[in-house]
Amino acid sequence: MAINEDILARFRNVVGERGIITNAEDMVPYVTDHRELFQGAAGAVLRPASTEEAAALVAICAEAGIAVVPQGGNTGLVGGSVPDGTGKAVVLNLGRMNKVRALDALNNTMTVEAGCILADLQSAAEEADRLFPLSLGAEGSCMIGGNLSTNAGGVQVLKYGNARDLVLGLEVVLADGRVWPGLNALRKDNTGYDLKHLFIGAEGTLGIITAAVLKLFPRPGQVETALMAVPKLEDVVPLLADARAASGDAVTAFELLPRLGLELVVKHFEGIRAPMETASPWYVLMEWSAGENTRKETDDGTLRAALEAFLEARFNAEVVTDAVVASSEAQARELWHIREVLPESQTREGGSIKHDVSVPVSKVADFIAEGTRRLEAQMDGIRVFPFGHVGDGNIHFNVSQPETMTKDAFYEHWKSMNRVVHDLVMDMDGSFSAEHGVGRLKRDELAHYGQPLDLELMRRLKAVFDPAGILNPGIML
Ligand SMILES: Cc1cc2nc3c(=O)[nH]c(=O)nc-3n(C[C@H](O)[C@H](O)[C@H](O)COP(=O)(O)OP(=O)(O)OC[C@H]3O[C@@H](n4cnc5c(N)ncnc54)[C@H](O)[C@@H]3O)c2cc1C
Repeated sequence: MAINEDILARFRNVVGERGIITNAEDMVPYVTDHRELFQGAAGAVLRPASTEEAAALVAICAEAGIAVVPQGGNTGLVGGSVPDGTGKAVVLNLGRMNKVRALDALNNTMTVEAGCILADLQSAAEEADRLFPLSLGAEGSCMIGGNLSTNAGGVQVLKYGNARDLVLGLEVVLADGRVWPGLNALRKDNTGYDLKHLFIGAEGTLGIITAAVLKLFPRPGQVETALMAVPKLEDVVPLLADARAASGDAVTAFELLPRLGLELVVKHFEGIRAPMETASPWYVLMEWSAGENTRKETDDGTLRAALEAFLEARFNAEVVTDAVVASSEAQARELWHIREVLPESQTREGGSIKHDVSVPVSKVADFIAEGTRRLEAQMDGIRVFPFGHVGDGNIHFNVSQPETMTKDAFYEHWKSMNRVVHDLVMDMDGSFSAEHGVGRLKRDELAHYGQPLDLELMRRLKAVFDPAGILNPGIML
């Protein structure tokens, strides 16, 4: 049904003027995805301030057959958080639902609303001397509801798991407007199917997450950060295995950076200098964390000593040819800043085609080498730019346009590049979507590579949870 004045009046009745946007110009940021690949249109943007309001809005949509596109910080990279161009859907933006409802330090949990910004939740945990470990480049604007709906990964998965692993309970508005009250804070609960996991990673197609109970952890007292030059790609994964053993499994991050990445960061970000003079085809940013929160008393703690001994042994073995170990939190932040702006440096350099893929960790080097060979054979001057979460086998196997080609001409090869990379990933028992989801961008890839039985079961689940198909239609399936 079209969104007429009568429907808009009913929406206003629920959320008031503060909770609704109907002016086309004001709606632009809500209907344009982060990468500006998808420009949609909406009948209205709705911004509920409570679960009750969200449920009432969805009930109106269900009755009128209006499609609902749930949205958090709109930082998703697969076009899942914006509507199509018909203008027949509403965007349900959760940003006003941003309260921490409870924090139970002894139970190591916090109960939060879906519109809380991830960085704010990290701070809330820190204030209670706890750690909420989910961490990603968009943490200053992405929201926990979006993180859970995409089952976000990030830089600490190696130690703490994906977003899915950090949740004990959820509250969800269902497609008919009822609220599923699953906010339990239990670490053991085997009373039937674990329904919350169906909503996590569902990209808003099965329900709208309005709140969650998140797991908290002790805050590590000792955190050591090192950037290492590792010339040989085949040494990277064994280096990770050695680091895990040498540190007593204290490796919390292990990020691969290519030389091109470091060069583009220095080129495009004023004020960032190369952290070391040694040029190397590959670098690894590694973090070790451990121990009680005793930083003040242990200026030269045991973790630091263990890291230095580890590095010395790797220098002697010529696996690592140079390293910078952060001597302060500020220097550690500077090293992390390079990693965080790496994707943006590629955007500033021109056209880029991204592949968020994973393979078994043991196959990472073979995948990068073979993928690079195949892409370079496909196009002269192409600049392969692989980086990311080696510890999870998750490589952002991105490519930058040749310097001599226009962006538009490069983008004509988008689908054929995807095919080359994704074919290789599937041959290596990997995934064509490691952490960003399927959304609109990879829907055809799911249809192409998905197992028929998987797809059948997914469609049946969709029919159970959303029989009228109003929740984020056109996404994923
Ligand atoms: C610079 C940068 C770095 C990034 N780094 C990483 C990274 O390291 N790891 C990673 O995994 N991702 C990364 N991302 C991608 C993105 O930040 C994540 O996918 C994030 O989890 C999306 O959160 P969001 O609040 O922006 O969700 P949105 O973009 O608003 O939505 C994402 C999807 O979830 C659905 N959705 C949103 N909120 C809800 C809700 N409450 N209920 C139901 N469905 C909902 C939407 O409909 C959409 O399908 C990065 C993005 C950027 C821009």
